[in-house]
Parts: sequence; C-alpha cells; structure tokens
Amino acid sequence: MKILLQFPEGLKERALSHARKLESEGNEVFISSSPTYGACDLAIDEAKAIGAEKLVHFGHAEFSKVDFNVEYISYSIDAPIDKLADSLPYLEAFRRIGLVTTVQHIHQLDAVKGFYESHGKEVITSRPYGFAKKPGQILGCDIGSASLIDRDVDAFVYFGGGIFHPLGAVLNTTKPFLAVEPFTRTIEFMDKYRETYRKRRNGKIAASLGARNFGILVSTKNGQYNMNLAGLLKKRIEAEGFSAAILVSNNLDFDSLNNMREFDAFVNTACPRIAIDDIERTTKPLLSANELNEVLLILKNGTGKRE
Ligand code: SF4
Repeated sequence: MKILLQFPEGLKERALSHARKLESEGNEVFISSSPTYGACDLAIDEAKAIGAEKLVHFGHAEFSKVDFNVEYISYSIDAPIDKLADSLPYLEAFRRIGLVTTVQHIHQLDAVKGFYESHGKEVITSRPYGFAKKPGQILGCDIGSASLIDRDVDAFVYFGGGIFHPLGAVLNTTKPFLAVEPFTRTIEFMDKYRETYRKRRNGKIAASLGARNFGILVSTKNGQYNMNLAGLLKKRIEAEGFSAAILVSNNLDFDSLNNMREFDAFVNTACPRIAIDDIERTTKPLLSANELNEVLLILKNGTGKRE
C-alpha cells in the first residue's frame, strides 16, 4: 500500500525507523516533513497529492471525522510518578481534587488518582467536551474535563509536561490549579496566569478600538477550518461600517501577516490558542471572535474611542 506518514515535531526523530518497518512489510512509504500541530492538522492534501491510499498519523488520537483513510497511532509516555508525594503539601487545604492530563499520560491517570485517594483526597475526573476523547483528558483547545467540574472541586491537579495544555484549562476555570510536572519535577500553582492573560486581553481590546480594517484568519487545516464563522464575522464587521477581508492560509506565518499593513487588527477563527499564545507575534492586535464582539459592542455603545 502507498502510505504517507505524519509525525508531530517531538516524534519526527523516529520517522525513518517507522518508515523502514512499514517498508519491510511491503508498503511504499513517504514521510511528511511539514510542521504538524495536532490531529487538527492532518496531511491529507499531501497524501492526495502523491496518490497515497492511507495517511498514518502518529502521536495524536482522532480529532474530528475526515473523508480520507487515516490510521491514528497514539503515543503513550510513562512519566515517573514517584515524586507525587512532593505535591501533597501544596494540596493540604483541598479535599476534592479535579485531575486532568494529556493523552500521552491518560494510561497513568488511574495510578495518579489512586495515589491521591490513598492520601485522603476525593479525586474527580470528568468527560471532555468534543475533541478530547477520554475522561480527564485535556487538549489545548478542549478543556471540558476541567471546566465541567470547576464548581465541584476545591482545586485542580494537572499531571504532565509543559504548560501549553494546562494553560487553556487554567484560563477557563476558577479554582487553584496545581501543575505537577513529572519530568522536570516542578510543582507550581498556575493561577498567576489568569491575571496575566486577563490584562493582555484587555490590552488587545483597548488597542483595537481605533481599528477600521479587520483581517479574519481562516486555516485550511482540517480540524481548524471555520469559514462559516469567518463569513459571519465579516458581515458583522461590515454591518458596523468597517471593512473586513478573509485571510486564508494553511500554516499561519506571522511575518506574512505583519506585511499586510493595511489591516488594523486580526481576528482568529483557526486554532483558538493562536489568539492567546501568539499575540506578541503580530504587530497589530490579534483578537478571538468573542473579543471582536466585545470591541464592536464598545464601539457601538460609544464607550470606546473611534478615530
Ligand atoms: S489546540 Fe490548536 S493545534 Fe492543538 S489540537 Fe487544538 S486546534 Fe489543534
């Protein structure tokens, strides 16, 4: 079979080994060298362009249904859990704990849960919203496993690496949020980010109040494509007497965006994390759809400045 393999950045170092194995089984194998951000970003166009019959996507679980033959090969990482005891002093004041992790550690969730239960905690894991598939699992764009139980818990524990995944959950919950990083063995409350990002959000909105020309970002990545929303936003902007254009890309390049100097602000309809994590990469404000609505409302009510 003619197959295209696709790996996230962290797994690309093993691409050749996987290709050799599949070749030895009689397949004709190709490897995508494009950047890969998640299962929202399947290399289906590349697979079709080379006439592949199947795309094998490593490292992520299925995100959304697609009209192509895709095999998902998930990737689990056994993180050390021997240092969980170090997190107990941080959790002394909290009895009901909401536990979340990423798909790479979902197989360890029962062990982590069991540990905290054996130390007198009540541990809750919740179903996710839509893109994540397992109870307790969060994605950068699906934090339902945390937000659904926000009112039921005294605090959250995120078990896993990095801050990309828990940051979305922190910003959409209200309880103390402890990140237990098993690799660096760092344990810290992430609550400070709520205030940091609230200020950034307010700054973006204030900086957009003089905008007249809006660029609406649409991604052609399979799980990020939302032309319907972009069309609605364009109409909404135009109804308020401003101008808008829809900007289409597969891989968003911030230098290219910054070259489009006629735009006063950008509005994101692609990966929701772009309007949170990447706002310092554009020279003009980069808004979410909700933030745009807020800007238009302020302008309509005459409480903002309009040049
Ligand atoms: S957070 Fe963004 S890049 Fe990650 S899976 Fe969701 S849409 Fe894709």
